[in-house]
This record gives sequence, structure tokens and C-alpha cells, in this order.
Amino acid sequence: MNIPLPSEGQIDRRLAQMLAADSTQTGENAVTDRLMLMLTRSCELRCAYCFVGLTEEGFGEPHPGTLASASAAEPPRGDMAPETALRAIDLLMTSAKPRLSIQLFGGEPTRRWDLVSAVLGHALRHPMRRSRELALQLTTNGLGFDPTRIAELGAAGVVVQLSVDGQGAGNRFRRPFLYDQGAADARWLDALHALRAGTARWFLNVTVPPAATGELPSRYADAVALGAPALQLNYATGMHFSGEQRHAWLTGLAAVLADHRRAPDLQLFNRQAAADPAPLCGDTLCDVDGTLLQIGGIFHERRFPALRKAYTHGHLHTATRWEGHRATLAELWARTQAALPPEESALFLEGMRLGAASDLVARTVAVLVPGRV
Ligand code: SF4
Repeated sequence: MNIPLPSEGQIDRRLAQMLAADSTQTGENAVTDRLMLMLTRSCELRCAYCFVGLTEEGFGEPHPGTLASASAAEPPRGDMAPETALRAIDLLMTSAKPRLSIQLFGGEPTRRWDLVSAVLGHALRHPMRRSRELALQLTTNGLGFDPTRIAELGAAGVVVQLSVDGQGAGNRFRRPFLYDQGAADARWLDALHALRAGTARWFLNVTVPPAATGELPSRYADAVALGAPALQLNYATGMHFSGEQRHAWLTGLAAVLADHRRAPDLQLFNRQAAADPAPLCGDTLCDVDGTLLQIGGIFHERRFPALRKAYTHGHLHTATRWEGHRATLAELWARTQAALPPEESALFLEGMRLGAASDLVARTVAVLVPGRV
């Protein structure tokens, strides 16, 4: 079926609506408060589309969590100290929302498995949780997995977000750094098999840079072939997409969404519209040094370094309650325009417009091709 793509005017109107409505995931009216924890800035890979300020300097060393680092322009080095991680969870637990969520993030969070275990234990048994639903998620490249670790995540109810680009040539954007290509691929495949055999819930998270937008249907086919229970397809943020590449992303997304009913065992998260218009995202993250900032400041650290300071909302050491450490999407966009030079703001806006266009495509497919998600 030929799915009509949105016009430029429709995209602008949809983006304005999304900014005015604020984040459906984490905004004032959302039922969940979400905390992301940056456990380490170390990672085995250096993916081509990753703009997080990664470093192996200070790996294994707990950051002292000094207040001064919150105002520094440079990203901190080292890992999160256990007391910082536990204190961040204590702060989340002061939230008044009926649902809570914690996402373990990095760098590669499994590089500090001791912190993963400590966070899960503290969060699940926290006295201020008061029987509230607590969603736990781990974002990982999978290279640090083994069956024992996967069993621990399964027992704690953690949902694993396993990053991959695709099979074979598709993985050319995931650049090994601490391993050679063969060892990294082998470790990832071992992780996939262990997840398929284990009890933890998981899904594949695929990021498509501009050069690979034409490969969207094949990335989807890879996920089906790999036996993934669920899939999230993302476009890379902070990168310029030509008109042709934007068109390829949107037509590929429309085709995948419309054809999805042929894969009855795969849940496709892209069919659920109303995601935040990436690169703008409402989630609040605690960095390794205790700085509290919205996630776009970390995602774009090496691409738009000024956003780190612009998106910062203080430090764990001075925070007494969860509320007050996030800006609305409209406020974030205003901060973005104030912090970036016009050409960088334009690139950022291009990414948001692609998010709004993707949302419209998902809505159109939902109407024209109703069915399971
Ligand atoms: S695995 Fe994740 S943190 Fe590591 S380089 Fe790739 S995108 Fe960045």
C-alpha cells in the first residue's frame, strides 16, 4: 500500500503541537517519573552515530560527585560512585507520581555490574516505593552479558534494550574499540542467544544513520530473522539528513509499519505514535558526578557541547525533591536556540521535524492499516 507522506506544513503543525503538549512520557501530565542513571562513561564500542562523551580514563574509579563539576562545560570522567547511584534513587522515590521508572545507561552500564546489582537491590526494596509500579530498563550493547547476568536481570524484572545496527554489513556503524570486530560480533551473538534462552524481557534497539536510511526494511527483516520479541527503530540525531535521506527514512518507516502484520511474533514499538520528537526528549538523567540534566545534553555532548550546561537542572547534593529538575519540551527548545549558533539550531530543528514527520507517518498507517502493534 502506498502510504502518503506528510507535507512540510503538516510537519510544522505537528511539531508545534508536540512542543505545546510537552512529553507524553515524562511531562507534567505523564503518570510516570523516569530516572536515567549514567553508570559509567566507558564503552567497548565507539559507534559512528554516538555523540556521548565516552572515555576509558577513570574507568573503575568512582567519581567523587563534587558540586563544582555540575557547572563545568566538559563532561566528567570516571564511573558513578555507589552512594551517588543510591542517592539518585532516593531522589526519584520522593516523586508524587503513581509509577516510577529507572533506566540504566552509559557508556556501557554492564561494564560496572556491581553498580547494576546495587541499583536493582536498592530500588526494588526502597521503603518509599510504597508498592508503586517500578519499570526497570537496561540499555546495553550486550558485550558484557552472560547467562548468569541475564538471569539476574530477569529475576529483577528488568527489560533489556539491546542495541544493534543489523546483521553483517549493517553493523558497520558499530565500531569496536576494546575488542576487534570478530570478537565484538561473537560476543554480541552470544548475548543474543543467551537472551533468547533466558527469562529477561528484551527488545532490539536499532539506530539508523543518514547513510543507511535506505536499509530500514532490511533492518526490520534482520530483527525478525534474529528472533527479537520487539523492535524499536530510531534515526540518528545530531546528524544532517539530506532531503533524499529523510524521504528514504519516512518511506522505509511507512513500508515497515504497513507490512508489520506479516511478523506476528514481533512487537514494533514504532507503531505507537506520540514519542518525544527526538533529539528533544524529556527524560532526566543523573550523570556519573551527580549532575542532573535532561538527556539531550548527554546524547549530543560531542556534537552540541553547549547543550550540556543548557539542559542542566542542578546537582544531586542540593536536590531534596524530584520535582523541579526538568524543563518542558518547549522550554528545552528555547534553551537549545539560546545555546546554539543558528546553523546548529537549524540542524537540531531538522531532527525534531523528522521526529514529528515519523509520528505523522505512524498515525497515518494506524488509520489506513489497522492491526496489531
Ligand atoms: S554501544 Fe552505546 S554507548 Fe557505546 S558507542 Fe555505541 S551507542 Fe555509544
